[in-house]
Amino acid sequence: MDHFNYRNGILHAEDVPLPEIAAEVGTPVYVYSAATLTRHYEVFSEALAGMPHLICFAMKANSNLAVLKLMGSLGAGMDVVSGGEYRRAKAAGVPGERIVFSGVGKTREEMALALEGGIRQFNVESEPELLALDEVARGLGLRAPIAIRVNPDVDAKTHAKIATGKSENKFGIPIARARDVYAEAAALKGIEVVGIDVHIGSQLTELEPFERAFSKVAELTLALRADGHDIRRLDLGGGLGIPYRRANTAPPLPFDYGEVVRRTVGHLGCEIEIEPGRLIAGNAGILLSRVLYLKKGEGRDFLILDGAMNDLVRPAMYEAWHDIVPVIEPAAGGPLAPVDVVGPVCETGDTFARARDLPPLGPGDLLAFRSAGAYGAVMASEYNSRPLVPEVLVSGDQFAVVRARPSFEEMLGRDTIPEWIG
Ligand SMILES: *Cc1c(COP(=O)(O)O)cnc(C)c1O
Repeated sequence: MDHFNYRNGILHAEDVPLPEIAAEVGTPVYVYSAATLTRHYEVFSEALAGMPHLICFAMKANSNLAVLKLMGSLGAGMDVVSGGEYRRAKAAGVPGERIVFSGVGKTREEMALALEGGIRQFNVESEPELLALDEVARGLGLRAPIAIRVNPDVDAKTHAKIATGKSENKFGIPIARARDVYAEAAALKGIEVVGIDVHIGSQLTELEPFERAFSKVAELTLALRADGHDIRRLDLGGGLGIPYRRANTAPPLPFDYGEVVRRTVGHLGCEIEIEPGRLIAGNAGILLSRVLYLKKGEGRDFLILDGAMNDLVRPAMYEAWHDIVPVIEPAAGGPLAPVDVVGPVCETGDTFARARDLPPLGPGDLLAFRSAGAYGAVMASEYNSRPLVPEVLVSGDQFAVVRARPSFEEMLGRDTIPEWIG
């Protein structure tokens, strides 16, 4: 459920009519709903009720500081994958003991940054990384709390580009090798083992892969404890999918996911960490865009928007589907006709939807791409020298620009021309 609904025939974000935002901020623009973000966090927290847990928002899905501040104020921790994200978490006021550092390629500088600034745990993804972290921590006279990310060799049944839990993926340590690597970690003076980490992929639409992966983690917990390790935390990653295509998808609910967690690892007495990104932010945001032209082609019509693949890359990158709805509510039962919805960028890949059934639309009309709050603005670029898309946060009847569109002067001012040219 989200808070983007028609009222009196106009699509609103909570209590704010979207045309008002378009008029004030311009288009394209991302619009997020604070009430939806809050609700999604609470749904997860309720799903894990009765088990000690920390919900670490995977900020790679949406790292706007206002969104992070809101999540942090609800009690969320953060899952970060770079020094930049670590700095964002800190800038949003999230304490180090609620920040988990993931990612296959942490640099020594990033390790030192987090060790000095405070960190809940590093999720370590390889032996060379483990050794580097040990060295950095010892150099600082500290011990790095770690979980080792195990690769359970489970098929997440999701898009190939976002599956991470198969042995051929670059992530984690094969679960069969885990005991050896934990033994190695225990012998390192700069390392403190605190738990196990697993993350098998993103946009999962079934619970069965989670169930298989978490069961393997439960078995490993017992084996590692028998080896003498103090396994007190289990980080189960993120990955729960959302219904991008409302008409015909119903991914599992957080409540049922919580039941899987309870059933597979609930008896181990561990603190549970989860790292949802998409499920918290995805349906909490839309991309608002305006129609520039309706171009009649041969056998197909093109609706050309002012938003493009540089603003929302998911369709071009993952063949992703986004529901597209007119901001002015079409008459029920009115005519629909197929159109290709495209942006102005000079690539055929700049296509949001092919032969999408939409009501008649023309220049000036506003459209909303639903489910664009995760992996939307964070992946935006200035390709074709289109200024970075701005972001707006709505709460009730108020809204604020939480990242402004840069001016052309700012955009061009980032380049420098060396004096030895010309
Ligand atoms: C991407 C990622 C997540 C978040 O995945 P979602 O599908 O957005 O929930 C969590 N943990 C790790 C390690 C990730 O790489």
